[in-house]
Amino acid sequence: MTTDLGEARRLLASVFGFAAFRPGQEEIVAAVLAGENLLAIMPTGSGKSLCYQLPAIMGRGLSLVISPLIALMRDQVHQLRALGIEAASLNSGNDSGTNRDTIAGVTDRRLRLLYAAPERLAQKETLALLRGAGVARLVIDEAHCVSQWGHDFRPEYLGLARLAEDLGRPQILAFTATADATTRADVAAKLFGAPPLVFLHGFDRPNLRLAMQPKRNAGRQIERFVKDHQGASGIVYCATRRRTEEVAGLLAGEGHRALPYHAGMEADARRRNQDVFQREDGVVMAATIAFGMGIDKPDVRFVAHADLPGTIESYYQEIGRAGRDGLPADTLTLYGLADIRFRRMQIDTRGAPDEHKRVEHRRLDALVALCEAPRCRRQILLHYFGETSDACGNCDLCLDGAELYDGTVEAQKAMSAILRTGERFGTVHLVHLLRGEETEKITRYGHARLPTFGVGRERDAETWRATFRQLYAAGLIALDDGGIGCWHVTPSGRDVLRGRGRVSLRIATMAKTVKRKRTREAAVTHSADADLLARLKALRHALAKAANVPAYVVFPDRTLEEMAARRPTTLEGLAEIHGVGRAKLARWGAAFLAALSEE
Ligand code: ADP
Ligand code: ZN
Repeated sequence: MTTDLGEARRLLASVFGFAAFRPGQEEIVAAVLAGENLLAIMPTGSGKSLCYQLPAIMGRGLSLVISPLIALMRDQVHQLRALGIEAASLNSGNDSGTNRDTIAGVTDRRLRLLYAAPERLAQKETLALLRGAGVARLVIDEAHCVSQWGHDFRPEYLGLARLAEDLGRPQILAFTATADATTRADVAAKLFGAPPLVFLHGFDRPNLRLAMQPKRNAGRQIERFVKDHQGASGIVYCATRRRTEEVAGLLAGEGHRALPYHAGMEADARRRNQDVFQREDGVVMAATIAFGMGIDKPDVRFVAHADLPGTIESYYQEIGRAGRDGLPADTLTLYGLADIRFRRMQIDTRGAPDEHKRVEHRRLDALVALCEAPRCRRQILLHYFGETSDACGNCDLCLDGAELYDGTVEAQKAMSAILRTGERFGTVHLVHLLRGEETEKITRYGHARLPTFGVGRERDAETWRATFRQLYAAGLIALDDGGIGCWHVTPSGRDVLRGRGRVSLRIATMAKTVKRKRTREAAVTHSADADLLARLKALRHALAKAANVPAYVVFPDRTLEEMAARRPTTLEGLAEIHGVGRAKLARWGAAFLAALSEE
């Protein structure tokens, strides 16, 4: 067992080129080598693939990896082959020659890892093939797809427990990045006969900077954010298909390389855009959540939300697509009351069981609370996932501070406006009322005669809107279930109205988050000579093109940065650099040494 682990560490360095395990990896690898069935919940980018890839090259048998998306599989197979590992995928996207080779690889037991989509395994021939050759381990990636509670339910995943039976009960390893307890328990119950060992690995992604802003002019806010990351790859998530086109158009108009991506596009165009994003540097994808699990690009430097995500889970997943290489990455999420209404309506009209809807509403509430947080966002986010932490120093509230003031009186004004009008109105009308604006609707309802009319004249409309959002986030007021956007006052809100309890509100901070980035980016490359780094990137681009793989399959950014900083002159020196394993050294080492010695 310990010797196995010693061997694992050696292979980690020699095959994968990594100096050490990342947090959580070692204990999982040890459990895999000990033959345990396990469910590992690890955040995106924490390196879960390695936890099954490393054992796969140690044992004798075949590791069958179930993965929901062809693009993802193809990418993993590329990466493994570049490391000199025998891996292949079985899928309908391959030509029949490739699939024949793969089958031969299975029968003569040459393959270590075989990737397949679940629907493929429903085929009788495939099953017969695998039974004949023997499967030592069944690896289930994106395991939350088996649960209706998850956000990516795939009915085909329900057949996997049966598949394990048909394959003679191999060891089962399930991996997912979805955190919440409901989904977790459901996954364990659906995939395993007896309860598996569960690894719940830290959810913090300290390299991600978190920031959220109320929407003012979403287009301009997004544009400014993207401009601050000129030349870097990034994703801008949008709530609707039309918005992706708009945002892509807007960014392209400002000179960025921006492309749309959504499920309504023709399959070819979609694949083309995804390929460009995956392979080239500096492409911005304006996408709906359809652009999700298929992306396995480690060097996405930023993720923005032009609209509020659907739940706190999706927020976490989506920002998690940035900075998977562990280098600093930036996120910005915009939100407004219209977004919240839209998301609520989406939940209510989805036709799911009531219990399910309630869960979704709670997840959305948690996200709204995060938007209007008075203190460190990461603390609140991690708290949602059951972790405690100190203030992070890498979110907008830690960096720019959130100024709080005693807003009890304002809260009382807002809530009495809601009650005096019979809890039948939304923010726009209530703000008119508070500010004493005699609109047609105010006149029609006779609201100018109410005592609350004009009691909030001294504050501008946006400050009042922020107040409503914050009262909502604090659970003092709530939106009606129908999604029309009428406010009502909750029991704790009524307490505040009766003078029991005080309310702290946040002074809205806007757009201060942008400044610091420059210095941080400079810090990333400070030791590396910029010209040399550019040369190494050009070389990587050429080699990747020749090998027909994405650039990071040759070497990730971090490797090039280390090369530029340390300037090794021998193959041995090069082998010490992060990400340089045997196979890549043999294939590309000489070319990089040549580039490094050029002056
Ligand atoms: P995910 O958990 O999202 O599946 P991946 O398995 O794709 O993440 O890993 C994310 C990145 O981390 C990859 O670029 C991978 O090569 C890198 N990585 C994994 N393990 C290590 C390690 N021990 N040391 C350094 N980098 C690692
Ligand atoms: Zn913080």
